[in-house]
Amino acid sequence: MDKKFIFVTGGVCSSLGKGIVAASVGMLLKSAGKKVSIQKLDPYLNVDPGTMSPFQHGEVFVTHDGAETDLDLGHYERFIDENLNRYSNATTGRIYTEVLQKERQGDFLGGTIQVVPHITDAIKQKIMNAKKESGADILIGEIGGTVGDIEGEPFLEAIRQLRMEMGKENVIFIHLTLLPYLKASKELKTKPTQLSARELRRAGIDPDLIVCRADIDIPEDILCKVSRFCGVDREAVIPAPTVSSIFEIPSRFHKSGITEVLAKKLNIKTLQVDLEDWQKMVDQIHNSKKEIRIALAGKYTELDDAYISVIEAIKSACFNRGYKANIEWIDTEALEDETKSEEVWESIKRCAGIIVPGGFGKRGVGGKIMCAKYCRENNVPFFGLCLGSQVMAIEFARNVCGIKNADSEEFNKDAKSKIVHFLPNQSEEKAKGGTLRLGAYPCKLKKDTLAYNSYQKDEIYERHRHRYEFNNDFRGALEDCGFVFSGTSPDGSLVEIVEVKDHPWMLGSQFHPEFLSRPNRPHPLFASFIDSCISYIEK
Ligand code: GLN
Repeated sequence: MDKKFIFVTGGVCSSLGKGIVAASVGMLLKSAGKKVSIQKLDPYLNVDPGTMSPFQHGEVFVTHDGAETDLDLGHYERFIDENLNRYSNATTGRIYTEVLQKERQGDFLGGTIQVVPHITDAIKQKIMNAKKESGADILIGEIGGTVGDIEGEPFLEAIRQLRMEMGKENVIFIHLTLLPYLKASKELKTKPTQLSARELRRAGIDPDLIVCRADIDIPEDILCKVSRFCGVDREAVIPAPTVSSIFEIPSRFHKSGITEVLAKKLNIKTLQVDLEDWQKMVDQIHNSKKEIRIALAGKYTELDDAYISVIEAIKSACFNRGYKANIEWIDTEALEDETKSEEVWESIKRCAGIIVPGGFGKRGVGGKIMCAKYCRENNVPFFGLCLGSQVMAIEFARNVCGIKNADSEEFNKDAKSKIVHFLPNQSEEKAKGGTLRLGAYPCKLKKDTLAYNSYQKDEIYERHRHRYEFNNDFRGALEDCGFVFSGTSPDGSLVEIVEVKDHPWMLGSQFHPEFLSRPNRPHPLFASFIDSCISYIEK
């Protein structure tokens, strides 16, 4: 097994897309037959992103083995099509917690615990564990944050040491920077990139490749300038102008010669990439011109990152059918406000279907229930994801079964009819971090249901992230009124998928199917939902 590592750092500013660069490099290496895995190292102090607000940090991505991780892991999985795990994301918070636990246990035998070597050793151990657990030939490590951040320094020191220990041909560094465009002088500026490369060198890291983001195409003389001033070979300066789809990036990088540079630097004889299928998918994206409007009725409206996997799952199901997804954000709180609701209903009515995504807390739930009611009564396709499926059950209980005070324990602790409740034995504690049902669980599907017809399988595995469950005391009452429990845990005790009988497409899943959708392999439920949306508008 090869022992190769590629580390991606970022300079100048955040949000340049280090995750997409790591994912694209991973995709190219995988297409050349290498076993690749990707790890995200986050310098912040939270133990994991599970407790962070989606407003600040975007979606919390969940791995098969139940880790709550950075949303970049979603990009990695979509690009390299490999399941990642709890070793694939580590934060300063987790690393310190573990080191301090050891200190309390006396494991350091009276030694003084310091950032170097104790924290840096723990970081190196995390990197080694990620490589070992994934069985990868090449591990790509993305260092979160921007070079120059105080909290990122131990990570830079750890990867610097790794290169020293393992040799230049086994550990290489890619630095991603920005070339800002000045309208007045009509040029791209290289100075921030130069300074960023210098800052990286101050930490003892010599970049092997520099990837330059820019909003426009980068002229050759600018690439040469970056090469000269940053001390990186010209062939190792890779342009990354803004593109219309992130999935174009691997082939663009390949055309810019990144694959040969990687092979040379890592001392790998040949890297024969095969991008044929991937390119077909990219062509499909560009050829999908007919628009289809899908309503997304969530709490964090207009914040793509908060629902990034849902959005990618919708897009992939759409372009797979030759359609371009046009996502309409629905502010469900505004639906509850008579002065604002009319406009929101107008936009809902323009849509071919509604998705109510996952979420926590009561805010906007009233509006989500209205969305479910509207879809049920008007035969509009409805897809509820986790919270969305709970909302769908509450709406049905209230308005079809006449259980007027139906609610979720999450929204009303004292509700008389807790259709959705906290399962006491599932988790003893109610602390906020790490007490959810997390990760992949099996689900048995009932024949002749929408779910079964979509998956064409008896048993599936899907990823969860929630605290509350459907209350089995109400199964009979809802079933009698035409609610279908089409997916349950194999022993039948947990409800995983619900449907409305005699509706073209109204389904809710207690799990998050979006995490398993791939750009070139849309998730069966999203594909089936989009098919139904297409028939709805074409009817
Ligand atoms: N808040 C709900 C629960 O905890 C749903 C969570 C979610 O949508 N991920 O059960």
